[in-house]
Amino acid sequence: MMQRPAPAMSSPAPKAYLDAIAPYVGGKSKAEGAERVIKLSSNENPQGPSPLAVCAFADAAASLNRYPEDGCASLREAIARHYHFPADQIICGAGSDEVIGMLVHTFAGVGDEVLFPQHSFLMYRIYTQQYGATPVAAPEHNLRTDVDALLDSVTKRTKIVFLANPNNPTGSYITVDELTRLRYALPAQILLVIDGAYSEYMRDDGDYSDGRELVGRTNTVITRTFSKVYGLPALRIGWGYGPKPVIDAMYKVRSPFNVSQPAIAAAIAALKDVDYMHAEVTRNYHERERVRNAIRAMGLMVSPAAANFLLVHFADEAGKRASDANQFLLSRGIIVREVANYGLPNHLRITIGSDQDNDALLAALAEFVQS
Ligand SMILES: *Cc1c(COP(=O)(O)O)cnc(C)c1O
Repeated sequence: MMQRPAPAMSSPAPKAYLDAIAPYVGGKSKAEGAERVIKLSSNENPQGPSPLAVCAFADAAASLNRYPEDGCASLREAIARHYHFPADQIICGAGSDEVIGMLVHTFAGVGDEVLFPQHSFLMYRIYTQQYGATPVAAPEHNLRTDVDALLDSVTKRTKIVFLANPNNPTGSYITVDELTRLRYALPAQILLVIDGAYSEYMRDDGDYSDGRELVGRTNTVITRTFSKVYGLPALRIGWGYGPKPVIDAMYKVRSPFNVSQPAIAAAIAALKDVDYMHAEVTRNYHERERVRNAIRAMGLMVSPAAANFLLVHFADEAGKRASDANQFLLSRGIIVREVANYGLPNHLRITIGSDQDNDALLAALAEFVQS
């Protein structure tokens, strides 16, 4: 018998508000034709995680037939001891991304607004749209968060304000005084989320805080990750610390077993290896200054940088644009990040790599500038 053609099938209609989403695209990791690829596009730690974390991960292989502990109790205890926070005010996620998602899921939906600075981490906007809320971007000044512009953008509908400090992709940070002023000028019921993905890179400059002191007194949540200086992005693990009622509400939207046991084990070990982490912060600091000075000496503008990446400004001139530089670097096997989708078409974001990778970057960039 002849098979009849399947009747044309109408698809189920996705929620209309999902139309607006431009899905997140991670930093590239392949360059056409290049033998050796140098990846400077995702702000990864080029030295990798602490060897203690790698051992803990390997040991966890013996128990892959068991579900992870639910609620990450042992990791929350470890974080609580490390930072002197109460363990029941911590929630863990598959990357701090998931924590950001749970915050939006819990506190914002259709008809609500979620506010952040103009050149912010893209996931604030994407999660806001996933839950049907309206993203609102406040203007920045000189590629830096403008507290007054944020305050001017608050409406009766604002539920959450997100702020990365230091910020990705600009690399700038706001001082503890600015942060405190923002918090106390915001209506008390608005949740302020301070994303500290790069907090560890801040050396003790005296005018910086990750915002932890605001958590006890106000509706403020801080988020952290093991993906950046701790070198564990492959395991997807991050956390948030906030007022107990806020964290308790978030547990209602958390997926069961959202963090894997090998990730929990590796994160606990990474947290213990304080010396390893500090050594990388110091290495990054010296390399960042070296690379920044070298790029400035080529005549390119580089924004002040607080974390493990640089934001480099290119001319708006045929053959010399950021996209041209990106293509040129790719042809040399060097992958950096275009940031046009962050509203920065004339910039490239370049992660500080290993000393050797940074040398290769500087050589290729010099060649581009002279070409
Ligand atoms: C990298 C990054 C994160 C997300 O990291 P996870 O891997 O999901 O923990 C969050 N915020 C900012 C600003 C980042 O740059």
